[in-house]
Amino acid sequence: MLLTNGCRLTFESRIWDDEVQLLINGTVMKVRFGEIPAEGLRFEIKDESWFPDHEVQRTGPVNATAVLKRNGVDRVLLEGRIQTTIEYVCDRCLENYTLVIDESFTLNLEYAPGSKLEPAEHEISVFEMDMIYLKEPVVDIYEMLSQQIFLLNSGKHLCSESCRGLCPGCGTNLNLETCSCKKDLTSSPFSILKRE
Ligand SMILES: [Zn+2]
Ligand SMILES: [Zn+2]
Repeated sequence: MLLTNGCRLTFESRIWDDEVQLLINGTVMKVRFGEIPAEGLRFEIKDESWFPDHEVQRTGPVNATAVLKRNGVDRVLLEGRIQTTIEYVCDRCLENYTLVIDESFTLNLEYAPGSKLEPAEHEISVFEMDMIYLKEPVVDIYEMLSQQIFLLNSGKHLCSESCRGLCPGCGTNLNLETCSCKKDLTSSPFSILKRE
């Protein structure tokens, strides 16, 4: 079948097949559970429109792959990989730094109409660890990919584990230079409170 050897999608792509229907509508790419054959589906996604560029500063192209496998009538396993580079601001020294992202992830998607969905019925899906309950038996691949970027983005950002940060007294970047107030602060009985 056409898609099982991998396919390249672009924003304009529209692929119709007797067994598989891929809908590419704006920034949304959706695959119904019933359209996933027993051998699975693999996507190589060159389209970058799913990436939340308005939220996360990207400094290079983004490549993503997604493999969908049926896991029973109401379950689908999504194995994904995202490769790109992102620029962050260090939480300690406030300098920009670039991080190479090569993130692999596995998500269990379950079609669970009603029962496991919380009252907010307008929510499309409920994210709970790597288990995702869907209101419709449809995988929104772009939503799943962008969600992974938001998860990455929500953590602490340090240019390095040993980043010394800014002097709380004068604001000097202590990775680059020392300052005269440093000793006074560290010898203060309250200095422990100033540490992270
Ligand atoms: Zn830093
Ligand atoms: Zn200082």
